[in-house]
Amino acid sequence: MIYFDNAATTSVCDSAVKAAASALAGAWGNPSSYYSLGIEAEKLLEISRKTVAGALKVPAEDVYFTSCGTESNNLAVMGLAGARANWGRRIVATAYEHPSVENCLRALEESGFEVVRISPENGEISIDRMLCAVNKETALVTAMAVNNETGAIIDIPALAREVKRINPRAAFHCDFVQGFMKRESPVTADVTSLSVSGHKIHAPKGVGALYLKKGTNIKKYLHGGGQEHSLRPGTENVAYAAALAAAISDYGGAIDPMVKQTVLDGVKAVPGVIINSPVNSDASILNFSLVGYRSETVLHFLESRGIMVSSGSACSRGEKSHTLTAMGLPARVIDGAVRVSFSPENTVEEAKIFVKELAAAQQELAHF
Ligand code: PLP
Repeated sequence: MIYFDNAATTSVCDSAVKAAASALAGAWGNPSSYYSLGIEAEKLLEISRKTVAGALKVPAEDVYFTSCGTESNNLAVMGLAGARANWGRRIVATAYEHPSVENCLRALEESGFEVVRISPENGEISIDRMLCAVNKETALVTAMAVNNETGAIIDIPALAREVKRINPRAAFHCDFVQGFMKRESPVTADVTSLSVSGHKIHAPKGVGALYLKKGTNIKKYLHGGGQEHSLRPGTENVAYAAALAAAISDYGGAIDPMVKQTVLDGVKAVPGVIINSPVNSDASILNFSLVGYRSETVLHFLESRGIMVSSGSACSRGEKSHTLTAMGLPARVIDGAVRVSFSPENTVEEAKIFVKELAAAQQELAHF
């Protein structure tokens, strides 16, 4: 099998499985308990927090464990906007944010916020156009570091710096789910919060983390005990925190850029292929369209040859691609979109097989 759908999820690495199993069997105490069983669990939780913090180059006390990237984005976007509503009701965002941000923005619009969405041009977000929308009433700016459908990248430190120059009171959130462990941590003093998710880096589904800069004013919308400084109450999932830390420690290095390059060069030669990812996109994702063919049909053909890819983001099954729509691409191009996404485990050999099978799909499948 060739698994080229790593932006949807990744396989769970052995060390994450072992870390989770060992924590479930041994460190099953409640980390808030005072006796040794609880203290053991708390120790493991704090060691895991340090590992996440190390990967993000932030202080451990600014890292909060959550259940997923979606929860991290919700905590940040809703909480940061909510805490600033008394003076700022404008939010500036990219028009291609993941649904876990975009649907928060829609909810905030319903409660009276004005959201300015900046569309990509040739697949890329212009920092200058984002900045033109930022004013003194801007409560929050939110931008993803790596787009989950095309791999388009944004220079987060540069954007955050300029946002703060225009309005030092504005909060700046970054969805780093697709960039984590693949790109340098973009956290600087100008970044207020940043979210990551375990299952994109070979940890299990159901664990994530949020970086929140110390001293940030944030509205808490989950109500419960004092865990995670009351920002994310609920007894912590120590086993999955340990699994996340293990996946970080064991991450298999950089993705070989030649894998994407080989696919890119190969598919360009297939008649009818249009490349949707910008030239300067992350090595982990390539989006292209086989124009005149339905993505689903291509996907099933590839699956029958043992190759797993996706038509867009796994979160919006059946819906038209949010990012490609924001890019203004015609329906025929969107309908034929294929996303391939890589992990450090993928090889150039696999990329060559993929290209061969795509060419076969183009030959054998019927146009619509
Ligand atoms: N943000 C981006 C960019 C994503 O790609 C995803 C998952 O696909 C998420 C957020 C949500 O993460 P999770 O699946 O852990 O909720």
